[in-house]
Amino acid sequence: MSNDSRADSGGSTRSVHAGERDHQGSDAVTTPIYQTSTFWFENSEKLRAFQEGRDKRDEYGRYGNPTWRAVERKLSDLEGADEAVLFASGMCAATTLFLALLPKGGHLVITSDCYRRTRQFIRDYLVKLDIETTVIEAADTKKLGDALRDDTAMFFTESPTNPYLRVIDIPEAVKLAHARGAKVVIDSTFATPLCHRPLDFGADYAIHSATKYLGGHNDLMAGVVLGSSEHIKPVRDAVGVLGGVIDANSAFLLLRGLKTLSLRMKRHNETALRVATWLEAHPAIRQVWYPGLASHPDHLVASRLMDGFGGVVTFEVEADFDGSCRFVDACKIPYIAPSLGGVETLIEMPALMSFWDQTPEQRAELGITDSLIRYSCGIEDADDLIADLDQALRAV
Ligand SMILES: *Cc1c(COP(=O)(O)O)cnc(C)c1O
Repeated sequence: MSNDSRADSGGSTRSVHAGERDHQGSDAVTTPIYQTSTFWFENSEKLRAFQEGRDKRDEYGRYGNPTWRAVERKLSDLEGADEAVLFASGMCAATTLFLALLPKGGHLVITSDCYRRTRQFIRDYLVKLDIETTVIEAADTKKLGDALRDDTAMFFTESPTNPYLRVIDIPEAVKLAHARGAKVVIDSTFATPLCHRPLDFGADYAIHSATKYLGGHNDLMAGVVLGSSEHIKPVRDAVGVLGGVIDANSAFLLLRGLKTLSLRMKRHNETALRVATWLEAHPAIRQVWYPGLASHPDHLVASRLMDGFGGVVTFEVEADFDGSCRFVDACKIPYIAPSLGGVETLIEMPALMSFWDQTPEQRAELGITDSLIRYSCGIEDADDLIADLDQALRAV
C-alpha cells in the first residue's frame, strides 16, 4: 500500500499501513528501531548530494530518524495533513509551536478550559517575549470575535477541552480568526484524528499529546504538530534548534500503538457513551459532561464535527470532597492516575490531582469543583466498568 492511501481506505487500514514499507535495506514487516544519533556518508560526493537536496536521507538525530519519520507519515495520513513533526512530549509540541509562530509583542487568544501547563507556559515564559494573552470561555465564538484584534497572531484551543469536553465550532472560529489574519491551532488530543480532523474544517494546525490515545498504552511520552508543508516548515526548523525530539524507542512504541488506534477508539467511544448514559440516569450523580449526550452544551456542534466523542467522561458525584474521595477509592477497576487515552481505565479528581496547588478560590474560578471526577474509559468490558461504578457509588 502506498503512502497516499488516505483517499481510498478506511481508518483502520490506514492506521496499520500508512507511512510504512519505506525503510531501506531491510525486509522486516515492522519498521526497525534506528537506534542511532548520527548517519554516515560514504564519501564527500554523497554528502554534497545531500546538501544540494539531490539525496533525501537522514544526517543527524536531531533533524530526523527513519523510525520517527514513519510515525510522522502515518499521522499525516490519518489527520489529512501534508506533514507532521514529532516531539518528545505534548508540552514540547505546544511550546515549540508557540515559540516558532508568535512574534515578539504579539497577541494570543486561548480558552479558559485548557491544559494547565500550557497556561503556565504562557504566564511564566511567553510574557518574557511581551506576548499579550486574552483568555476566553471555551466554545464561545461570540467572545472569540470580541477578543480577536488586528495584531492577534494565534487562536489556540483544545477541542474537546479538558475537563468539560467543550467542542469548538471550528469552521466559525476559523472564519473569525482568518478575517484578522490569526492562525488557528486546535489541540485535539481528546479526540484523535479518527474522531475529529480540525484541518478538514480549515484550522491551520492540529496538535496532540501522543502520550494519550495515539500511543494508547500508558507507556510512552510524545507529541505531534500537523499541517500543510508551508505551515510545518517553521515548526520543523524550530525543533531542530530547540531539540525536543522523540527517541527511536518511543517512536517505535508509538508506531506499534497506532496500528490499533481505530479498534481502540471504536471501543473507547462505545464504552464512554454507555458509561455517560448510565451515569446520567443514576440518582447519586449530579451532572455528566460528555459531548455524545444530548445534555452537553456542545452536543450539536460535536455531532456535526466529530465521528465519535472519545473515551473521557467528566461528572460530579452528589457528595462533598471526602465523599468523592470515598467513591474514587471504592472503584476497583480504574487506576487513580493523571493522563487518559490508554487501554487501562484511569480515574482522577481534578481538585486533588492537577489543580491541587491552586487555592479554593482559583479552583472555583476555573470551575473545578470538589466533587468533579474525570474518568478515562479504557478498553475493559463496559459491563464490568458499569458494575464497578455501581458498587462504588454505594460507598459515597
Ligand atoms: C496531556 C496533554 C497535554 C500535554 O502532553 P504531554 O504529552 O503530557 O506533554 C497537552 N494537551 C492535552 C489536551 C493533554 O491532555
